[in-house]
Amino acid sequence: MKITVVGCGYVGLVTAAGLANFGHLVTGVDRNRNKIDKLRHKELPFYEKGLIELVRKNLEARRLYFTTSLGLAIANSQVIFIAVGTPTRPDGSADLEQVEAVAKEIAAYLRDYTVIVNKSTVPVGTGERVKKLICRHSRLSSTFDVVSNPEFLREGSAVADFTFPDRIIIGADSTKALKIMEQLYAPFIENNIPLIRTNLATAEMIKYASNAFLATKISFINEMADLCETVDVDLPTVAQGMGLDQRIGPDFLSAGPGYGGSCFPKDTKALIHLARKHGKNVSIVEATDQVNERTKKRMLEKILNVVGVPNGKTIAVLGLAFKANTDDLRESPAIPIIRGLLAAGAKIHAHDPLALQEAKKIFGEEILYFNHEYEAVTGADAIVVTTEWETYLQLDFKLLKEKMKQAILIDLRNLFPPEKIKEYGFIYEGIGRGIK
Ligand code: NAD
Repeated sequence: MKITVVGCGYVGLVTAAGLANFGHLVTGVDRNRNKIDKLRHKELPFYEKGLIELVRKNLEARRLYFTTSLGLAIANSQVIFIAVGTPTRPDGSADLEQVEAVAKEIAAYLRDYTVIVNKSTVPVGTGERVKKLICRHSRLSSTFDVVSNPEFLREGSAVADFTFPDRIIIGADSTKALKIMEQLYAPFIENNIPLIRTNLATAEMIKYASNAFLATKISFINEMADLCETVDVDLPTVAQGMGLDQRIGPDFLSAGPGYGGSCFPKDTKALIHLARKHGKNVSIVEATDQVNERTKKRMLEKILNVVGVPNGKTIAVLGLAFKANTDDLRESPAIPIIRGLLAAGAKIHAHDPLALQEAKKIFGEEILYFNHEYEAVTGADAIVVTTEWETYLQLDFKLLKEKMKQAILIDLRNLFPPEKIKEYGFIYEGIGRGIK
């Protein structure tokens, strides 16, 4: 099949390369010329495990192309994916400007019957709106259908998630469009990946409800962690005990500095906004959002409680990305922590295995950047671990202590066993580690 994917960000690029790998002829379109130039030169605009190999393989096989020209790309395309950003507006609603701009542009070039698939995360009703926009802006009386096919990949394991998804959701109001989507996703169907066929609005809701539920699980455990600290109980043991119940499951029960990234913060806010617009309250989701904000603030207080007045002190921040295995800093909890410490007069030594370049765009010369953990901690008064990078598990605490001015470890990801760290002579503070 000939396919166009509009938007070459995390979702669009993984989708384009993944579909090309199934044997489809795919063109990725992005308005960002820099991104397209990089991709044409077989370089990625961001890091994602396994993606560079997939992109190179399919570029070389001439199944994958990149362009900034939507008109060129969509000529003869049977399926067009929309995978552009849907950021948060100041009122919390999803900003659909990018989706709508792409819909209008597609309308200008549509000729033969085309399936337009929305992969961006959008509020209920957007598919219908896209349909109307295309009808209004289409010059020829072209036939098309709009389908909702929300994406569930996780940054850090996006290629694996695309290849082995838990489920495929197809929201389509036309049998013709549904049949084409089933053809497109035949390799998944043959592999018995569950496929939910539903209407546009239900598919859109499945995505928001899923993200809101996952965010709720995180806020729930973070709230339990706060309580555990007060009543002297060890949260990781509580989470382990809870997670063994199959109805609860062990995932998303690690307490931490609050959720970040490009999805949970914006999607919970958009769902709250959607509910209010329809005269409803999603009070659990509202609480999830509030707990997350409180959790992020609590992290700074926690650090200041242990370190004292940070004026003139050096804090080594290990981990900047919003989670491990990505260089994405969008809504990373490390950002408000660093901003708060800077405002209190601290000097920041930052380390991250992948995200230093992205961090420089945010903090510029306000902080110092280090490629090696041991350089970052040299002369530091405290270490704050903000991202759960596996490489930090290999740290030699004897060596760290020798290099630091004061041996303080604030472990915002509960990566380390407190007793062992204390044996090295460190003051240790984790999340929800009530047993001191
Ligand atoms: P992104 O910001 O990484 O990429 C979006 C891309 O679209 C950018 O490269 C931008 O230049 C391009 N773009 C915007 N307008 C365009 C236009 N008119 N023409 C061509 N290109 C245009 O975003 P993302 O993280 O890939 O997310 C895309 C959507 O998928 C969002 O709605 C997001 O909520 C959803 N989503 C994201 C993830 C994730 O983990 N990142 C997971 C599931 C769903």
